[in-house]
Amino acid sequence: MRLPDVGGRCETHGMSNPLSDVDIDEEAQLASIVDGLRESEESIAAMEAQKTAQLATAMRIALRRMEGKHPTQRAREMELRSIAAEIGAAVRWSDRVAQQRMADALDLVERFPATVDALAAGRITARHAAVIQDAGCVLPDATERAAFERVVLEWAECETVARTRDYAQGLAEQMNPESITERFERADKGRKVSVTELGDGMVKVEAIVAAALGHGIHDRLTQQARAIRQVAAEETREHGEQEDGADSAVVVDTRTLDQTRADLFCDMLLTGQPAIDPTADALPGGLGAIRASIQVTVPALTAAGSDDRGASIDGKSPIDADTARCLMAGAPGWDRVLTHPVTGTVLAVDRYRAGNQMERFLAARDVHCRFPGCRMPARLCDHDHNFDWALGGQTDVCNLACLCKRHHTLKTETEWVASQSPDGSIHWTSPLGRGYTDRVPPRVTFVPDGDPPPF
Ligand SMILES: [Zn+2]
Repeated sequence: MRLPDVGGRCETHGMSNPLSDVDIDEEAQLASIVDGLRESEESIAAMEAQKTAQLATAMRIALRRMEGKHPTQRAREMELRSIAAEIGAAVRWSDRVAQQRMADALDLVERFPATVDALAAGRITARHAAVIQDAGCVLPDATERAAFERVVLEWAECETVARTRDYAQGLAEQMNPESITERFERADKGRKVSVTELGDGMVKVEAIVAAALGHGIHDRLTQQARAIRQVAAEETREHGEQEDGADSAVVVDTRTLDQTRADLFCDMLLTGQPAIDPTADALPGGLGAIRASIQVTVPALTAAGSDDRGASIDGKSPIDADTARCLMAGAPGWDRVLTHPVTGTVLAVDRYRAGNQMERFLAARDVHCRFPGCRMPARLCDHDHNFDWALGGQTDVCNLACLCKRHHTLKTETEWVASQSPDGSIHWTSPLGRGYTDRVPPRVTFVPDGDPPPF
């Protein structure tokens, strides 16, 4: 074994080399790693280009099948959805993701050919290509877009994705023939609210709205939060003066400004009344009377307080045990689900009073839509006869399953076929004849239904 402090001699120049043989070995190893990583990135880029070409071709096939063959737009759409579902099930994407990637790939191939060539040659990565496409999509003229692509690609081949994005966005903004007014009108049509899982029992609620409204919302929450903190501080001070140093009975508000803003946001959205309410005369109490509804799943041991694990919302969003028990205590009713101790298969659902047992059983067993990859909560799903009722299929839990509107329609209107096993597994056969199995997760479910609690 060589000692690390033994200096080597540089054979070429006959000079003392400050690096040891071990250092030189590591240098060589690191150089080899750097070269290897470059080669890996280039190979991955080439394969991404190949994947883009495959997805674009699938999209072209879908578009050709959609052309004029079907009488309605809906029937044409089914051709596209069925192919997207076929690809999604095979590579474990949801069919919505597959459909979006097919459309993006065709757009990249047809409108950004130089970018695809650079990707195939390994000169840029797939993420570089995505930022070029995102920024350049605002340029409708093919000649202008090609000029944009040429300039940005020169930059992208030497720069990181983040710098390429800044440069491409800045250049596209300069070249954009549309006024900000026109762009805002179009962008404003994409306003929406969505929820993203963050883990640790938290989610992110995002709203895409006009900039003026978004900044206004944040400013109002900030002003309200500061007012709360000011009142709380004054109360604490006044109480302290009255008690003259005695133990204070005032609850001290220790929340940060961010926390208070978030609490106000939830409070107002869960309990507030919209300023404009077209249902005021049609619904008792109007829109303000509509209350939020969620499906909470709590394992029996957690419900009883002897464990803290396994509680979730809609079977996909973990929540802490205290919140789960609090929601359970406030629920007007709940279902008890008996599961097999080893396999976890749902065996039965009971309730202190008879109701629509079958619907509750399906919601408890399926938790979400049963198409491969879909996570639409069961409460938003239809009940599908796996073997068609019109052809003699039984209205029985062994032949029924929760399917969201999208996948119920896909099954009804395309060649996707479902059959169910006694354990609740659903075996899907795609139009290409490939098989995919959707298994049942074990669940315990609590469903508020307006009845008084049994305890
Ligand atoms: Zn679905």
